[in-house]
Amino acid sequence: MTNTFQLRKKPELPLLAIFGLGYGSSLLMPAPNMTSVSSILLNLTKPEVFVPVFLAAFLIVSMFVLGESRRQEALTSEAAKRRAKIALRGDSETGDAEIGGANPVVAQMLARTRDELEQQVHGAFSTVGEFIVKNGKYAKKLDDARSELGAELTLEQIRAVAEMLVRENAVASEETKLLRSSLDQARTRIAEMKDRLEAAKLEAFTDPLTGVGNRRSFDQCLEAEVRRSHAEHTPLCLIMADIDHFKRVNDTFGHQAGDDVLEQVASILKGSVRTTDFVARYGGEEFSVLLPRTTTGNALGIAERIRTTLAAKPIFSNGQPIGRITASFGVAAVQSNELPSDLVGRADKKVYEAKLKGRNRVEIDSASSA
Ligand code: GH3
Ligand code: MG
Ligand code: MG
Repeated sequence: MTNTFQLRKKPELPLLAIFGLGYGSSLLMPAPNMTSVSSILLNLTKPEVFVPVFLAAFLIVSMFVLGESRRQEALTSEAAKRRAKIALRGDSETGDAEIGGANPVVAQMLARTRDELEQQVHGAFSTVGEFIVKNGKYAKKLDDARSELGAELTLEQIRAVAEMLVRENAVASEETKLLRSSLDQARTRIAEMKDRLEAAKLEAFTDPLTGVGNRRSFDQCLEAEVRRSHAEHTPLCLIMADIDHFKRVNDTFGHQAGDDVLEQVASILKGSVRTTDFVARYGGEEFSVLLPRTTTGNALGIAERIRTTLAAKPIFSNGQPIGRITASFGVAAVQSNELPSDLVGRADKKVYEAKLKGRNRVEIDSASSA
């Protein structure tokens, strides 16, 4: 290419060739006294004839090579353009490809854009793909798209794949929304169920009339506290209380008045102890108070306080006073290795003793007071 360009820039060379050829030919002309062939051969051996003839022949050959080279260049360039045009037009009939075919710069730009687009589509493809594959759906569609992307693609095909991915992504995000909303619903339902479970648990361990613990919760709490008392060597006391002549309340004022009495007694019990103490309705008109880490002396004091508070407080039912209510109390402290049922039995015995001794009194177990 460089040589061709240099030769084209030197117009004196063809003139020199023509001159050399003319001069050499004149020298080669045969002398009158010789045959023409032998005369030409003889003249060629002379340097003044040989040099211009050789130079002229060289220049002629060079010019021929130059012309051929230019022709080849033109053909190559045309073929390249044609190839570019065909390649860009490809299978597609889009306007972009036609423009690219007419303008190699635009064609290159489009090819670069196509590569970038392809890269972006691949990137988007992997991102969306990861997401969709995670959902365990569209695997088939993605596999199809992936195999399509693996092949040589036209812009139109890339666009189609991208559109398909966008569509699938829209479907996937819609499904994600639905999934999220059903997860939210599930979460709300779980929270409701948890609340209901808590309520059911509370109900299962609460006496519905008085709101204090029921027999089941008392049994559980007693067992746990007795075990802990044995393990930690800490005192544990139990107060059992039985309302005096409760049957009379029912008989005189009715069952509802009896219920009102039960509620108010429970409230007094609750209000007389620490939050760490446990108040329960043991059954009927009997209540129990479990006092962890409480000495017999303190338990006795608490029982007395409850007794006096109850005895002093006027009880109302349906807005009407129904007189004063008293209760009999038995106090017992857990002994080493004692079973929970035995502790209850001893406290119960003291209640019975208090009844026998005239009611509205507190009796303490002798083993506990020792
Ligand atoms: P005492 O002083 O000897 O304990 O006599 P009392 O009348 O309290 O004992 P008694 O065992 O004779 O009667 C208990 C009564 O308590 C009988 C029962 O109908 C009543 N009772 C038990 N549970 C309830 C209840 O939930 N509501 C009402 N209103 N009454 C109840
Ligand atoms: Mg009773
Ligand atoms: Mg009673």
